[in-house]
Amino acid sequence: MTSPLPDLQHAAPRSLQRTEAEARAALLRVESCEVELDLASDVETFSSRTTLRFTSAGGATFVDLKPRRVRSLVLNGRPLDADALVGGRLGIDTVPGANELVVDAVMAFRTDGEGLHRSVDPADGRHYVYGMSFMDAAPSIFACFDQPDLKAPYTFTVRAPRDWVVLGNAPASNPEPGLWRIGPTPPLSTYFVTVVAGPYYLIRDEHDGIPLGLSARSSLAGALEADAEDLLGVTRASLDELHRLFGIRYAFGDYHQAFVPEFNAGAMENPGCVTLRDQMLSSTRLSRGARIVRATTIAHELAHQWFGNLVTPRWWDDLWLNESFAEYTGTRVVADATEYADAWVDNSYLRRCWGLGADLGPNTHPVAGNGAVDALAALQDFDGISYAKGASILRQLNTRLGDEVYLGGVVDHLRRHAFGNATMHDLFGAWERAGAGDLSAFTDAWLRTSGPDTISLDRASGVVRRTPPAGQDVARTHTLGLAVREAAGWTRRPLEISAVETPVDVGTGAVLLDPHEQTWALVLPDEATVEALVTELPVLADELQRAATWNQLRMAHDHGAIDPARVVDVAVAAPPVEDLEDTPVRAVPRRTVPWLVQTLLPLAPAGSRERVHAAAVARTAAEPAGSEHQHSALRLAIATATDPATLRGWLAAPPPGIDADLDLRWRVLVRLAVLGACDAAELDAALAADPTAQARVEHSRARASLPDAEAKAWAWARFTGETPVPNYDLEAAGTGLWQPGQEELTAPYVERYFAALDTVAEVHRGWVRGTAVEAFFPATALSQETLERARERLADESLDPTVRRRLADTTDLLARRLAVRTRYGA
Ligand SMILES: [Zn+2]
Repeated sequence: MTSPLPDLQHAAPRSLQRTEAEARAALLRVESCEVELDLASDVETFSSRTTLRFTSAGGATFVDLKPRRVRSLVLNGRPLDADALVGGRLGIDTVPGANELVVDAVMAFRTDGEGLHRSVDPADGRHYVYGMSFMDAAPSIFACFDQPDLKAPYTFTVRAPRDWVVLGNAPASNPEPGLWRIGPTPPLSTYFVTVVAGPYYLIRDEHDGIPLGLSARSSLAGALEADAEDLLGVTRASLDELHRLFGIRYAFGDYHQAFVPEFNAGAMENPGCVTLRDQMLSSTRLSRGARIVRATTIAHELAHQWFGNLVTPRWWDDLWLNESFAEYTGTRVVADATEYADAWVDNSYLRRCWGLGADLGPNTHPVAGNGAVDALAALQDFDGISYAKGASILRQLNTRLGDEVYLGGVVDHLRRHAFGNATMHDLFGAWERAGAGDLSAFTDAWLRTSGPDTISLDRASGVVRRTPPAGQDVARTHTLGLAVREAAGWTRRPLEISAVETPVDVGTGAVLLDPHEQTWALVLPDEATVEALVTELPVLADELQRAATWNQLRMAHDHGAIDPARVVDVAVAAPPVEDLEDTPVRAVPRRTVPWLVQTLLPLAPAGSRERVHAAAVARTAAEPAGSEHQHSALRLAIATATDPATLRGWLAAPPPGIDADLDLRWRVLVRLAVLGACDAAELDAALAADPTAQARVEHSRARASLPDAEAKAWAWARFTGETPVPNYDLEAAGTGLWQPGQEELTAPYVERYFAALDTVAEVHRGWVRGTAVEAFFPATALSQETLERARERLADESLDPTVRRRLADTTDLLARRLAVRTRYGA
């Protein structure tokens, strides 16, 4: 392709400021946005022609545009100079009344999961594209006013290779081979406009008059077919339940769920065309935990069709309205209306410590009104607070108000602002009109103040103590339960605490505060309880209480309140196999088993790994063949194994009931690699034998885990961008690089990491920037020197804000682990 204009210099795009968004919204109304894309001509770039029609009060403003190069710019029939485009913004002078801007540009496909992401399936070499406009990536697909409260109907015309299908926010027609038309759509915010294109495999269905679709890469067609009934069953049941709860019909026509490769988040709620990470499909067995996560993700995105898509936050500081609401509603719908009645248990293992960790960390913020001054700052608030804490607070509010008032307010809010935008004040107003009364004390205590209270039992004084976050005097009333182990078994009774000390009568046995996680607090079990858990936990039947117990042990350990040796004793007595899922591996573990392996064991006394391993092996043998608990126990046994022969034995002959599938094979290979018991050639051969996308990621992890200098250099080249790789491979290489026991080998990379932080922001953009900073953090260099060096970098004002924020989080975790080691020795 040729262009009359030279390639653009890449001035760093400025993130949209809230004040700028307010001014632009006051000036403009967008009437329509027509986008023509040509995805067929090139694999590096695509042409994008946008016609924006809008009404203006007249005056200067700007359009967001992040092209590779511009072909032409025409405003109201007159060409504009390309110099008007600076740092992702095209300055324009609008006239009062109707305006039309036509932008003809060449855009770059991306490989970091944002904009139009293009990937090649290693299984068959076929190309796939999906659009991710969130949070400020839309302008790298089409020209737009990129802010949530300038909604417009969209029309897409897409040229694509003839063997591709194209999907979008409205049903697509295919008038001739290689040509697709989509829309006009209902009014959409820019951040959830998408196009999905490629030789995808499709399944269609219909429910209650709503056409349903599923799609996945061709190489995953078998997995999609095998799971279609599960996926569609959850979708149908969730749609029915949401219709029942809200009494408002799904508003975006058909409902397609596209499983796409190399997706950063779990999923994205694009109206009519949700995108989900295709690791949720597998040609091998999926654990029940993975199925529950998938079901709750489906329901979460479906809930967004009302909260987020039908009614959209005016600005990003209300993103909790999207995420907390979808998290709470999605889990509730799955637990109440599908076969996954244990969804709340899984939610507890997956989310509770993520949220509490964030709320206790250096970057804590209130759930609501987080003060996001620009889109980039808001992106950083996609954390455990906006999801887990916010959902917990909404659940508390639901308990307090009851469904009639709670849902009455929600429905009033949705009807009043349908296809528009609203704020949290609108929602609270709706709840108050529905009969909730004055909610200001509740919102002040739970939504507008950050940091959790600490709740602990002081058995000697016979009180439960409530300690507000340091430096805050927040009046909070906690409604929770109290589980007391008595001679006849556990008894549970309600407890309400608001004072600093609340008298309780609990005897001498084990006591668990908040056993069903009804409130939001750092709950610390007392010493007598932790000791009793060695005998109590193996026989405790209440699944929610088991999850709460593990979460309390984790949080207490990480905050220096329990000796790691005591937690190991509990893990040996009752390996946490009820946490049914432990993938994907993350630099900061969210679930119990990876936490146990990555965080607890390196701090525990010598021999702890072997004790946990022996317990996991025994549990694998004791559980019924093929059961979820057996699989879960074997995963723990593999992750803690130190004897290569044992691992190779499982590869050759897995325990009865377990298949030697791709998942097992790569778990074993990763562990063998960490132990130095295999080489790069064996890993390369395993990938070549079964070159799926999942295998490629695990290969990256394993390759980076090998204890030799070449492997570490191989991983490092991915961080610096010397070897550009897609997002998943990058994260896997980072988590592989740092392994306990390889400290001498990785020592040179500690300083290299801190020195590279200035350039890493240029190499990795958007979502992936934070992921890279976290995954490559020298987590195993557990020393005062590392901590001091990290703090020195944090003090550097010139550090990129995303880099700093992630570095602050990971540094805080390092400081906490150092404190545990100093206190308890290991
Ligand atoms: Zn969401």
